[in-house]
Amino acid sequence: MNFPNYFSDAEASFNEGDYVIFGVPYDKTGSFRRGTKKAPYSIRQASWNFESYDLLTEVDLKNLNIHDYGDLDINNDESSVMRQKVEEFVLRILDNKKIPISIGGEHTITVPIINAYKKKNKNIGVIVFDAHLDFKDTYENNPHSHACVVRRISDIIGVDNVVVLGVRSGTKDEFEEGQKSGLLHLNSFDIKRNGIEWALNQVSKKFKDKDIYITLDIDSIDPSFAPGTSTPEPFGLEPFDILSCIKKFSSKLIGSDIVEVCPPYDKGETAILAARILRYIIAEISLNKT
Ligand code: MN
Ligand code: MN
Repeated sequence: MNFPNYFSDAEASFNEGDYVIFGVPYDKTGSFRRGTKKAPYSIRQASWNFESYDLLTEVDLKNLNIHDYGDLDINNDESSVMRQKVEEFVLRILDNKKIPISIGGEHTITVPIINAYKKKNKNIGVIVFDAHLDFKDTYENNPHSHACVVRRISDIIGVDNVVVLGVRSGTKDEFEEGQKSGLLHLNSFDIKRNGIEWALNQVSKKFKDKDIYITLDIDSIDPSFAPGTSTPEPFGLEPFDILSCIKKFSSKLIGSDIVEVCPPYDKGETAILAARILRYIIAEISLNKT
């Protein structure tokens, strides 16, 4: 069965919208499994599973002004072209005082989004949920690989304004470099042992009053909940951990993305989870917008 190809309850025009959802169907640098470019479509379809009323926030999403722009036209572009298109579009969203909510695609789409905030002089902290440290300077001779995303974001806004949660994979060099440059990352084993609030309190101390952007690489969540991803990694976070983070920082949240959902390896549960988290992000932000 096919549902409309826009996110459920996203019926507002661009001008009316307080939240602008857009897809970036890009998966050129994927190294293990390809197919994340199909995620915007799958996640939109999955979004029709839900009631418009969100019990957790008591927000009815049909009463919010949500715009779904559709996908940016970037299918086979070189990385530099993709980055330019994403950055320009996010600048347009920020210029119009709207909140960008994007659907990847691979994780590299986050880099130009952060660049746009930087250009607008936004003083942001970025929370990266990821199984992978993504701190390689280059990967397969490509500094713009999905394995280098945290490094590139750190180049843009400074390593002090980035934290990575849920890490459980990376090279020894990568962890040593992260250590040397002072990157705060908390692995999934310590988060399991000490609880997500322990982790979120560290983030809170670090970012203080900064606005916050959350980029959710879906592989941060355990593959038993989110199997449909490009590079699955066991011993991950639980979906409830993500909710806790969104709730804790919702009053400061100025944008978010979900990346690395890979529909060819999904029976639908990963897309459903991603769609549900996106709906929750929007509902939570709306509570603080009045
Ligand atoms: Mn990643
Ligand atoms: Mn990852």
